[in-house]
Amino acid sequence: MTGMGNWFRQVIGKGALSHEKVAALASDYIDDDLSPSMASRFRKHVDSCEGCNGLVATLRATVLTIRDLPRPVTPPGLKERVLLRVQEEGTDTSTDDTDAPASDSTT
Ligand SMILES: [Zn+2]
Repeated sequence: MTGMGNWFRQVIGKGALSHEKVAALASDYIDDDLSPSMASRFRKHVDSCEGCNGLVATLRATVLTIRDLPRPVTPPGLKERVLLRVQEEGTDTSTDDTDAPASDSTT
């Protein structure tokens, strides 16, 4: 039988990671959670693979942006205001003269 997966290892080099593996390890790499040998294999793939390079760059930018943000604090009353807003926009359909909630089904 022909080994369809072998060509890739020959192209990139022995011990190279697959695209899937790189994608799976990307966040660990950015977090510095990979072992030095794994990190170097990771970098080796990314250096020679445009697709994974872009993926890691995008992910890193996202992670750094999120880390820089302060923890969002929900101001008191925001939930109520949002719900009210949703209700106001939701009732803007056909019945314009009544403010009765649609959930109240009287038969
Ligand atoms: Zn790749």
